[in-house]
Amino acid sequence: MLEFCHVNAGYGSTAVLNDISVCFHKGKITTIIGPNGCGKTTLLQCLNGSSKVTAGSIRLDEADFLAMPLKERARRLSLLPQVRTIIPALPVKTLVEHGRFPHLGFSRRKSERDIALVNDAMEFAHVSPYAAQYADTLSGGIRQRAFFAMTLAQDCEYIVLDEPTTYLDLKGQREFMEMIQQLKAQGRTVILVLHDLGQALKISDTLVIMENRRIAAAVTPEECLRQHIIEKVFDVQLKVFHDADGFYYFFH
Ligand code: ADP
Repeated sequence: MLEFCHVNAGYGSTAVLNDISVCFHKGKITTIIGPNGCGKTTLLQCLNGSSKVTAGSIRLDEADFLAMPLKERARRLSLLPQVRTIIPALPVKTLVEHGRFPHLGFSRRKSERDIALVNDAMEFAHVSPYAAQYADTLSGGIRQRAFFAMTLAQDCEYIVLDEPTTYLDLKGQREFMEMIQQLKAQGRTVILVLHDLGQALKISDTLVIMENRRIAAAVTPEECLRQHIIEKVFDVQLKVFHDADGFYYFFH
């Protein structure tokens, strides 16, 4: 379990989050949703130091996460941030190999297992055909999948993805949701920020709903629908349709 306990966090002298407590359960898919600016990214960036935790603690399987050496953190939890302003001019395969850095010894020599995990991650994210292509020359969607493959190559039990579907077309989004289900089936813990509320409802075991830089609720999708939390927090109307394949949620 990944647990934020009474966390205050912000950037430099700007305080953003105050007294946040929330749990992300092991082996489950948890999606954080909330209007723009409510603090979702700041919360996740506590995990990689991009936002600074000024009070409280973060616990990973009972251990003090922020007290762990950086390499150990990166062996246990991989975080794919939302904003990547600098796209490295590297072949996709080299980019994905970066995911193995926390696992390499002093010599940085890659074992057969490292190589296999890189190839598996590229296959899984459907970027093997682009292995030799430079990341800065890829379309947004393929580039997003290449970064996803890098995150998977890190081979962590905890996988945290901030808006991973932004550049994906509809087919890419559907495939991505299937990949997330597969990661769960492998026993991994997945934490997402998603903007598509319908996808969030369909894929998540738990929804963490943020509003005004606070946790408004942490509930199952069913409970979220029953309490009309999304309608209240986002000020939207929900329409539900269903057919033999399942339920479809539209917000307007
Ligand atoms: P969300 O991900 O929910 O859109 P953010 O966590 O990005 O929200 O932002 C929450 C608040 O923190 C916003 O008011 C935003 O202006 C502020 N903020 C985000 N990044 C920075 C930063 N680097 N420096 C100062 N304030 C920031």
